[in-house]
Amino acid sequence: MDVHEYQAKELLARYGVPIPRGGVVYSPEQATYRAKELGGSAWVVKAQVHAGGRGEAGGVKVCTTDREVNEVANQMFGSRLVTRQSGPEGKLVYRLYVEEASRIQRELYFGIVVDRSTERIMVVGSREGGVEIEELAELRPEALVRISVEPALGFLEFQARELAFALDIPYELVPQAVHVFRSAYRAFRDLDAAMVEINPLVITDSSAGASELVALDAKMSFDDNALFRHLEIAELRDRSQEDARESHAADRGLAYVGLDGDIGCMINGAGLAMATLDMIQLAGGAPANFLDIGGGASPDRVLKAFRAVLNDQNVTAMLVNIFAGINRCDWVAQGVVDAFAAIDVRIPVVVRLAGTHVEEGRAIIAASGLPILTADTLAEAAELVVTAARREKVLDGHPA
Ligand code: ADP
Ligand code: MG
Repeated sequence: MDVHEYQAKELLARYGVPIPRGGVVYSPEQATYRAKELGGSAWVVKAQVHAGGRGEAGGVKVCTTDREVNEVANQMFGSRLVTRQSGPEGKLVYRLYVEEASRIQRELYFGIVVDRSTERIMVVGSREGGVEIEELAELRPEALVRISVEPALGFLEFQARELAFALDIPYELVPQAVHVFRSAYRAFRDLDAAMVEINPLVITDSSAGASELVALDAKMSFDDNALFRHLEIAELRDRSQEDARESHAADRGLAYVGLDGDIGCMINGAGLAMATLDMIQLAGGAPANFLDIGGGASPDRVLKAFRAVLNDQNVTAMLVNIFAGINRCDWVAQGVVDAFAAIDVRIPVVVRLAGTHVEEGRAIIAASGLPILTADTLAEAAELVVTAARREKVLDGHPA
């Protein structure tokens, strides 16, 4: 689960990461009022959306009068901000953050992620902040400093110091840097985060006093499976920023993942899901989504899952692939037959059943007289559904 910049900043600040003064606002009037309250002569108005790359997309604006703050806020509120991370529809802007403008001397990158290959938390830094890290990692991987954290020891002071030196942080600021890095790490650990990113972490200009380190942007995302022990964070969930297909399914207790293709998939278990997606790709198709019905799914649950898969307008054919252990093929088959009765299913549906009560399940499908395509193996099922999806496209007038 992602949270907004201002929420991430608030959480990090609690652990000791310095952030600029600012406040969230819900209307242009509030924006002007906030700017006045903050005082000073320059403010930054920032669209709060769950996507990075706001700066280059016009979602971060420096203003020097309260009238300008008001105008910028007026333009941003209610708009959909399209950034390189938001997807083509963009994200709805209905909260803004107004903060004091900092004088920047240098922009650095600081992040914490879970590295799946080493199964460790990894702290990442770069002298080149402000730019997108994925791009930097691809073009110039040597510009990234990576530090792997030993789970039993945590992120140690000497490691934080090494990172500070690698980022060329001036000597007098090293203790502060160590404090910032380790505070962010503590926040990551304590709150069961999946990612923390401070980009940019800036060294301020020394013209108005001593330089300091400040987190000008912050991003955090959290492990969904740990949210039950952080109710305060679970409450920060903002549905307006999520994939509508995924929240619809989550509300019904179904695990759904939206993808870009046109074949809808209903599966049990994440491992079988991965295998099914691979087989579809191998057969030349592209999955639109996959929905995991989990174990012991009742016909009613299967019906709900069916609806969730078909909810996606891009789906032109659907594959039901069940390898039943705790599940029962006859219940799944009944759910599929019920779905045809309850929903106007206009696309080809391929069903492949294996495992517990498979004979009973196949008999229910056969006896239904419905135009359901069946297959015995996964490879066969994948071929069938890809061919069916292609045919639908041709019938629809799109070249396959
Ligand atoms: P995004 O990463 O979504 O583009 P950022 O918050 O990183 O948004 O803002 C983009 C850029 O705007 C930053 O790299 C920084 O140069 C500038 N910026 C952001 N906040 C401030 C601020 N408070 N004061 C001065 N400049 C800022
Ligand atoms: Mg940023």
